[in-house]
Amino acid sequence: MNGKIGLRAFSMLLAVMLVSVVLVPAVSASDSKSKDEQMSNRSASEKALVHFGDLTEMRIADEKEVYTKIPSSIKNYDLVVFDLPKIREHLLHGDQLTVYLEGQPYTMDLQETTIDTEAIATGIHSFTGSLTGVEDSQVLLTVGNNVLLGRIVIDYTEYFIESTSIQDSKSSSAFLQYVYSSKDIVPEGDTIPIDSHPLSTHAIDEKAYALKKMLEEQADPRATVTVRVLVATDSQWMTDEPDWQDTAAAIIQYCNYDFNTLGVNIVPIYDTSKAQQLSNDPQIISSPLSAFKNYFPESYLNSKSADLGLYLGGYDSSFQGVGSSGGYDHSSLYRYAWAQMADDPSTYDAVLKDRAIVTMHELGHAFDAAHEYAPYQTETYNRAYEFYEHNQYWQTVMWGCFMKSAWLQFSANDGFYGDANHDNSRRITETKGVVASYC
Ligand SMILES: [Zn+2]
Repeated sequence: MNGKIGLRAFSMLLAVMLVSVVLVPAVSASDSKSKDEQMSNRSASEKALVHFGDLTEMRIADEKEVYTKIPSSIKNYDLVVFDLPKIREHLLHGDQLTVYLEGQPYTMDLQETTIDTEAIATGIHSFTGSLTGVEDSQVLLTVGNNVLLGRIVIDYTEYFIESTSIQDSKSSSAFLQYVYSSKDIVPEGDTIPIDSHPLSTHAIDEKAYALKKMLEEQADPRATVTVRVLVATDSQWMTDEPDWQDTAAAIIQYCNYDFNTLGVNIVPIYDTSKAQQLSNDPQIISSPLSAFKNYFPESYLNSKSADLGLYLGGYDSSFQGVGSSGGYDHSSLYRYAWAQMADDPSTYDAVLKDRAIVTMHELGHAFDAAHEYAPYQTETYNRAYEFYEHNQYWQTVMWGCFMKSAWLQFSANDGFYGDANHDNSRRITETKGVVASYC
């Protein structure tokens, strides 16, 4: 890894030099006026691609450290710091908050999602909603103690709010963040399969298969189920990103956005008790999924009342792909999934959306959702889908190859995200009762 970052320091410095003459850091009153401030009276926050008015300060960082944290596939971005206590206060009080996207103000209509009670207990709150009066808009925000993470979509243009995981030198607790849009991304690296998931053959023995089928038939596809997922990580991710927990909560929120519509509430149980052991394991890079299972056997999942185990790994694995899971029919790994959080030499970057796509994809396999090709599937409708919109192709989340154009959505028989032959959603509603009964 690391092949994609670090090489652009010079061009970035040049870009910073070019913009630094016009940008004004909106420093607090106690700070002395900077030279830049004297050059312009405009508030810096007016200029960031995504901002929250006065609750945003722009930054110009020339530290090399920052460049190593932002994938080189993101060609343009703005560095910002948010007034998190105030933003959180607004959101928790249900006050209207205005977000500016490319200079345009929008009112966000948001509700707190309260599924992730562990995150809430540590001060991380997630909100879901839309932009008032804007059709086909979607807002996902996670406000933690140090960072605000978000994805705002207007008609297939995505705006991202990400963290560099570096503390802002001018703030007491806030982290330096960056904002960009999907229009700023130029994928770098090869396209790779997300995982080497066996094409969902019914690998278990006939008896076990018959039992699962019977349980599926007994479960009510319209019921809402709770699937408790133990979310573990290693020391590497915790060291690389001190705000990893905010990111983990945001990833789970992204997964829940579509899982909830299928009657599945993914409730995470965060577990760092074996982070050091995972990091010390010689197999953690070559076989992350089986190494994870060694430390979190089924008896351990049961002791935590977890149906599934999810390992958010901080290493660039040598395993083929950036995720893995046994899949619904696997004899021993059917309760396990792994998603890589580190950057990969492929088009996969260590950003929220890429991480959420792979995590949701692997969780999807645990519910027997299959790729676009499912030649051995008994359920021939259980396939991912590709659709054409705004002059390009988009893929539903179970698409076999990792794509920047993948959408955080399972295929569905709705005539848009799929049809009767491309309906991962149907399969998930059939299996959710079984998965929810693992523990
Ligand atoms: Zn897969």
